[in-house]
Amino acid sequence: MSLSERQQRWQTRKTLTPEKRAAARLALEQIRAGMEVMRALRSHPLADGGVLSKSALVAAYHELLAAGELAEDGELLQKIRMKPMRTLSGVTTVTVLTKPYPCPGKCIFCPTDVRMPKSYLPDEPGAMRGLEHHFDPYAQVASRITALEAVGHPTDKIELLILGGTWSAYRRDYQEWFVRRCFEALNGGAEGNLSEQQAINETAAHRNVGLVIETRPDEIDRKELAWLRRLGVTKVQMGAQSLDDRILAMNQRGHTVERTRQAVALLRAAGFKVVLHWMPNLHGATPQSDREDFSRLWNDFCPDELKIYPNQLLANAELYEVWQRGEFRPYTTEELVELIADIKPGVPRYCRINRVIRDIPSTNVVEGNKRTSLRQDVLVELTRRGVRCQCVRCREVRGATIAPEVLRLDDLVYPVGAAEEHFISFVTPDDRLAGFLRLSLPGADSPETGLADLQGAALIREVHVYGQALAVGAESAGAAQHIGLGTRLLAQAEEIARAHGFQKLAVIAAVGTRRYYLQRGFERGELYLVKQVAVRFTFCMGNLRGLRGKFGRPK
Ligand code: SF4
Ligand SMILES: [Zn+2]
Repeated sequence: MSLSERQQRWQTRKTLTPEKRAAARLALEQIRAGMEVMRALRSHPLADGGVLSKSALVAAYHELLAAGELAEDGELLQKIRMKPMRTLSGVTTVTVLTKPYPCPGKCIFCPTDVRMPKSYLPDEPGAMRGLEHHFDPYAQVASRITALEAVGHPTDKIELLILGGTWSAYRRDYQEWFVRRCFEALNGGAEGNLSEQQAINETAAHRNVGLVIETRPDEIDRKELAWLRRLGVTKVQMGAQSLDDRILAMNQRGHTVERTRQAVALLRAAGFKVVLHWMPNLHGATPQSDREDFSRLWNDFCPDELKIYPNQLLANAELYEVWQRGEFRPYTTEELVELIADIKPGVPRYCRINRVIRDIPSTNVVEGNKRTSLRQDVLVELTRRGVRCQCVRCREVRGATIAPEVLRLDDLVYPVGAAEEHFISFVTPDDRLAGFLRLSLPGADSPETGLADLQGAALIREVHVYGQALAVGAESAGAAQHIGLGTRLLAQAEEIARAHGFQKLAVIAAVGTRRYYLQRGFERGELYLVKQVAVRFTFCMGNLRGLRGKFGRPK
């Protein structure tokens, strides 16, 4: 199917015809009477042989409601919502694509399409929306919010995920304009420069609770840290791809493992959340070398989140020629499932595995695995083996109501380079995660960031409390299962920082969460929110580290 055909089909699916409206009305009645959603949809096939989509069903629900033909029914809406997973962690992600632009990288596995930013294909689900809106950030954000609202999703807590090639390679005036326009859309069209938009967003209806960009390790230096903070960035996605210099060179990554190590250390020292991309099946790798490569991730890198993107052979990437010469072989689906099932149970409990495959339509894949449901295949294999993945994603409570008194407070401590990380979490009796906080205690040899707010500070890099549609500030308004979880995590972090001799706590707050921290004793710094924490003079090794901060870090 051609791209325009795909887009046309996508558009058609969005429009509610009289036929679809009639089918939706019947299906809604059956679902209300207790029938399972997909069964009800299938029992009313459309004339073209297809069935109604869930989004059309939700749109029909709203139409009938507005016309007074249907009484409001929250339970029914809950059942028919499209992809309820999208907001289960309490936050709705809105993806925005930057314009086509060259990338300084020359990676041989990376596809090139002149219509798209480097590495994206026009028919990838998220990317298609960017193309449809001519990469205009305002239109992309505004239309996404409208669409989410139409299907009944909460849109008060928005994480902006900016995708497209290498963010840091774009001109800075473009970057600033792009982020400002995203905020303008969140703020309902209000005018103002970037910092004015950020200020408006603090109390806007669609608050920004996270801002993510993707870049290369060799673009990260001290200047870049400050710039990203100025834009409001809280999380950085970076391609590590491999932790073997030979493999990096064979695939023309253009940077070394050491450079990745430095970039991760810098980002961590500046409080950013770090998402690494890791690619098995690169040119020169074998399933066995990939297993070894993966284990290296948990020494000096320790990403907070990980995307496993098995290398996919695409016709518009340089790797295609290598394959034609017979020098590259893509793994089969079975090999990949085997490999991922081997490595997944070894993932530490502080890391979240966001993906195990990239969402590329299989028609683009020349040879090798074409299944995009690899995650399910791996899950089946893990169940067969009787093991399970313990990553954050696999342990999230997923919208279940939790009684706060059953939760256990856990503090997982792990060293990363010169820093000591604390993954403080609330865990249910059956080992599910109800919320967590990432606290980073920089050591004497942690890299100098040059950021004034962070002098002598312990860093809160993330606070996350799970629950569907938990409104910003709902904690104080009393969303039963969440009362105080965030506040209690903050108190615990403060206690640990103090016990280690730190006098200051800094948090990398997304613009829309600033008020939350201000209400909890933090003050506005230049680029972070900070709180002074009094030192108790009980002497321990940790005190030494914190006091170093007070008197300046030895170099
Ligand atoms: S750095 Fe990323 S976007 Fe650039 S060529 Fe390499 S893989 Fe593609
Ligand atoms: Zn997992």
